[in-house]
Amino acid sequence: MLSKNEVERYSRHVLIPEVGMEGQRRLKNARVLVVGAGGLGSPALMYLAAAGVGTIGVADDDVVEMSNLQRQVVHGVSDVGRLKSESAAQRLASVNPLVQVVRHDVRIDSTNALAIIDGYDIVVDGTDNFPTRYLLNDACVLLGKPDAWGSIYRFDGQASVWWARQGPCYRCVFPEPPPPGLVPSCAEGGVLGLLCAAIGSIQAAEAVKLIVGIGDPLIGRLIVHDALRQSWDVLTVRKDPGCAVCGASPTVTELVDYQDFCGMPGSSGRAAARAPVPLISARELADLLADGSSSTGLLLLDVRGPDERAIAGIPGAQPIHLDEFHSGAAVLQIPRERPVVILCRSGTRSEEAARILIEAGHPDVRNLAGGVLAWVRDVDPSQPSY
Ligand SMILES: [Zn+2]
Repeated sequence: MLSKNEVERYSRHVLIPEVGMEGQRRLKNARVLVVGAGGLGSPALMYLAAAGVGTIGVADDDVVEMSNLQRQVVHGVSDVGRLKSESAAQRLASVNPLVQVVRHDVRIDSTNALAIIDGYDIVVDGTDNFPTRYLLNDACVLLGKPDAWGSIYRFDGQASVWWARQGPCYRCVFPEPPPPGLVPSCAEGGVLGLLCAAIGSIQAAEAVKLIVGIGDPLIGRLIVHDALRQSWDVLTVRKDPGCAVCGASPTVTELVDYQDFCGMPGSSGRAAARAPVPLISARELADLLADGSSSTGLLLLDVRGPDERAIAGIPGAQPIHLDEFHSGAAVLQIPRERPVVILCRSGTRSEEAARILIEAGHPDVRNLAGGVLAWVRDVDPSQPSY
């Protein structure tokens, strides 16, 4: 039963014949887990709370940073430095104190995903990385739950509902992750903040439709949105009978190591078999640069693009884009007799570039640990972080 307070609050839902008292009661009894209180999670969380979804889980182990506020509208300036789950829970309580918010201040991984997700009816995937995306998909398949998924990059957004019981799962359509480094994250490539509202609200709407049992859920359809053209295309996607996790004879029957599956740096397995890359800290680099590159012969290379370099950088660094390492052009240009330090934003792309140089036989290559962000934090706080 809905209380008088609830009927008043949700009256504009109750007035819709397809929703009514019964639909609103279903929303009250529903449990939705939003993974990632970031760009997509922000609008999804706020609309799910406003809609009266009775129990909302927020899973995030990150803290709010100033550069999040351009799109992560569930957080405010005073939340910078706080846990995102804590900040989001407080905001949701102010949006709708009648819903219960459950915080999961952990990074969802193979050890905890099944236990956490099992307590919910639907997962809203607001993550920004491939390992967690595959993890959530596989966990939802194994538990038989729907996964309201969204993805954003620059001006492009995608959304679908993966539900192996009724249609394809994420792996049916994207069986293999892209090679690491090929698809930049929003942290590296940027994203139009407003795009989060468009895609995150689709995810929340799909969750609400599934709960109330109305309309045609986005199962077996993939929305592809281009904010610059303001185009919305809908592709039909089908279940793959040979899918590794939801197919007729699955090879994935439990959660695996998704860092390894996606070939991420720092993971065990296939990535670790590649050449190790020596590191240099920002402070060590500052000391080296203070000695003067004429004495050390140090060559400092920045593999980021011009827009990133315009935000923050290290004096004396020469721009040479990661693409030039992939094409082989960089290997030809960089003299072998000079020691090399490579940098990017956080140290991932520069690790890739350094590895290419090392595997090409360069004897003295180091990766700036933590990238230019570490430099800004430890050496030159006058520059902006991003
Ligand atoms: Zn599948």
